[in-house]
Amino acid sequence: MKDLTHCVVTPSVKTEGFVPLGIGVHRASTIAFQTAEDYADRGKRGPDGYSYGLYGTPTTRTLEAKLTALEKGARTFLVPSGQAANTIAMLPFLKAGDKVLIADSVYPPVRDFANMELVRFGIEVVYYDPVDPSDLEAKINARTKIVWCESPGSTTMEIQDLPTITDIAHRHGALVGCDNTWATPLNYKPLTLGADIVTEGLTKYISGHSDVLLGSLTVRDEKLTAPIRSVLGRMGISVSPDDASLVLRGFETLGVRMNHASQGALQLIERMQAADIVERVIHPALPTDPGYSVWKRDFHGASGVFGVVFKQGLSDRVSPALNVLKTFAIGASWGGTRSLVAPMPVKAYRTVRRWDADDLVLRISVGLEDHQDLVDDIEALLAEISR
Ligand SMILES: *Cc1c(COP(=O)(O)O)cnc(C)c1O
Repeated sequence: MKDLTHCVVTPSVKTEGFVPLGIGVHRASTIAFQTAEDYADRGKRGPDGYSYGLYGTPTTRTLEAKLTALEKGARTFLVPSGQAANTIAMLPFLKAGDKVLIADSVYPPVRDFANMELVRFGIEVVYYDPVDPSDLEAKINARTKIVWCESPGSTTMEIQDLPTITDIAHRHGALVGCDNTWATPLNYKPLTLGADIVTEGLTKYISGHSDVLLGSLTVRDEKLTAPIRSVLGRMGISVSPDDASLVLRGFETLGVRMNHASQGALQLIERMQAADIVERVIHPALPTDPGYSVWKRDFHGASGVFGVVFKQGLSDRVSPALNVLKTFAIGASWGGTRSLVAPMPVKAYRTVRRWDADDLVLRISVGLEDHQDLVDDIEALLAEISR
């Protein structure tokens, strides 16, 4: 072989006996075939085979298998973000004339997707009260193909009664999708409560280090895999093995991170509930929370993300006061090592269940710092708002 060819054709080395605990990053567009017949037959390799990088590598398949096991599903698909997981969970199952019912407390970009894209293709988009199944019952009909849930809801954190909702949806022939980003499959398993599809923003807790965007959708029934796989392939959606590898690494510490964050959240909540400028802390693990009994029944734990509502008239002071924070960073997303705060407006994103409190919820995501530094920061914030 001549030098230029040596540069291109890489020798294979022995891999037998090399058993690392980390997962290899397999980068590939082309997958080579032994024979022309193998190449011609590549379409018959099935969902677990390899034919082209777009359809998966051992790295992405490993992360998918881990999620499938934790969600107790049949198969998982990775997509470039949590938002992509939500849109791809709906698209394969909708056509013009169909109807989707979406929880009023849904992640706002899902609302935008439904109102701006689904409507454009002749799909009827209707919102339902996340905590009143009779509202869903009244709005569902034979044209309804998807009932979309998110529990707890974004920012206002309503807990949904998933077994009751899936029962209503299935009686009318609709599929149920549920965004599980807040709880992660460690704390909530929607597929075991009747949901057909569960989505995760892996960007948040599961990757856990604020440095990668990725999402997943897992189906309960193998029958749903073909439509999703076809849409992903036709739309050319795939994820990088480097990103999947970052998520696989973060995943290993998910349990200890969630534990530290949820403990820290409870300490901060205690301090905030005692402050007379705080109207209410929103967190389903509090016995005073309206969602507590359903949360207790269906969830295995809580995460470290919660909301704070201030007394009427104080919310104008909240955003400027955030500048006193030393340990918390100000920013969107959550579930990373660094604690975050973000002032979230609510009213513009509610059309069914009105939000009557002040139109600002301070979302707090507890990270992995020492809890005392976070308490000190929150003390300083409360003092600045009260000043
Ligand atoms: C952040 C978030 C997403 C989206 O995740 P990205 O990876 O940032 O697109 C989806 N659902 C919920 C509930 C979220 O909080």
